[in-house]
Amino acid sequence: MDFKYSAEAEAFRHEFRTWLEANMPKRNTDGDDEPGSDFVRTNEDDWQFSLAWHRKMNSGGWVGVNWPKAYGGRGATLEEMVVYNEELIRAHAPGIVNGLGIMLVGPTLIHWGTEEQKKRFVPKILSADEIWCQGYSEPGSGSDVASLKTRAVEDGDYFVINGQKVWTSGADRADWCILLTRTDPDAPKHKGISYLLVDMHSPGVTVRPLVQMTGDRGFNEVFFEDVRVPKKNLVGEKNQGWQVAVTTLMFERTSIAAMRDMMGSVRHLTRLAQSVRRNGGTAWDDSGVRQRIAGFACEAQALRYSNLRQLTRRLKGLPPGPEGSAGKLVASDLNLRISKFAMELLGPYSQFEHGAAMAVDGGRWSYRMLSARALTIAGGTSEIQHNIIGERVLGLPKG
Ligand SMILES: Cc1cc2nc3c(=O)[nH]c(=O)nc-3n(C[C@H](O)[C@H](O)[C@H](O)COP(=O)(O)OP(=O)(O)OC[C@H]3O[C@@H](n4cnc5c(N)ncnc54)[C@H](O)[C@@H]3O)c2cc1C
Repeated sequence: MDFKYSAEAEAFRHEFRTWLEANMPKRNTDGDDEPGSDFVRTNEDDWQFSLAWHRKMNSGGWVGVNWPKAYGGRGATLEEMVVYNEELIRAHAPGIVNGLGIMLVGPTLIHWGTEEQKKRFVPKILSADEIWCQGYSEPGSGSDVASLKTRAVEDGDYFVINGQKVWTSGADRADWCILLTRTDPDAPKHKGISYLLVDMHSPGVTVRPLVQMTGDRGFNEVFFEDVRVPKKNLVGEKNQGWQVAVTTLMFERTSIAAMRDMMGSVRHLTRLAQSVRRNGGTAWDDSGVRQRIAGFACEAQALRYSNLRQLTRRLKGLPPGPEGSAGKLVASDLNLRISKFAMELLGPYSQFEHGAAMAVDGGRWSYRMLSARALTIAGGTSEIQHNIIGERVLGLPKG
């Protein structure tokens, strides 16, 4: 494999780097693990800051850079996308908003949507004029999401929705939802599902926030009572929504794998080890500690190269395949183990919560520890990723 980038990609890098240097706001972070950066920003100031930054990025043409120009993107190649992510990490750029819209909904609509749907929805995803959430999970239908019960019944030009979703990230701020509904209760479970675009401001939609163990209020329960959705908001064929849903899930898993700069996390961990006092020196003086951190660094690099391998499939114009599960599995597991090791290094100081006066590094590691588990569950749990890799990548018999 040749790891050198093409001249075009290097020119793209130069252009983006120059733009970032000229436009990045002063309020900067030194990493990817600031409180509130996972999935949602619950604090209003953070939200407004990120929204303003999003709009600036979009006005420069730096949101949805790989989307076709016809839909407001930049038409960047996959190689340029890799460079784009590298530059964001390098600059410690703040996060933007509408992550689910940008990572999941836009790419899914570009793949499956009608021309009318693409023209109507995609530009407003980019501009963050419309914020999106994902209505898949239900009480009792998480890993086995195809067992979902939320009903959509036809009534003239509309579907009428009744049911409940749960763990819906960002539903409290969302204008629209990609909603999985059951349109044929008599068909086998994967064959009676339809994928709808639902206006969250419709009468009959109720959103109730759920508080996470980090203290964030990112999740929600969403109730649908006789919610009317125009049939033109159906994506793909009626009862064939599972295929569309799986495309979204593949984009989700690949995005989660790429979401964290694991080498950046290893660097933070190194700085922590170099600052924590131990036996008259620092934890870094302990060769056992250095060895553990070196192990994490090797895994982070291996993950990076595996993610690059995914490019081969995408370069052929295919949506992400089941191999994306391996990246998601490894990234979320590594992230968790790094956070746990930071707790070991901090010893009793790990008990201080984020923001506590005596917390080391402002308590970012305690926060991160509490939020790290989420990535091993969101987008399909680690056990489910193991099943997918076993059955669909390795071709092993079902367990
Ligand atoms: C941070 C975060 C954000 C999320 N955001 C959203 C969102 O925006 N929209 C949305 O729809 N959902 C969202 N979810 C929900 C997420 O998709 C589900 O939590 C996940 O799919 C697991 O479902 P469950 O919680 O119902 O657990 P269950 O499916 O009940 O699983 C419970 C346990 O059993 C294990 N298990 C289940 N089935 C199997 C099996 N076949 N083989 C082996 N083990 C199995 C699981 O791995 C898990 O450990 C989010 C979750 C998190 C943590």
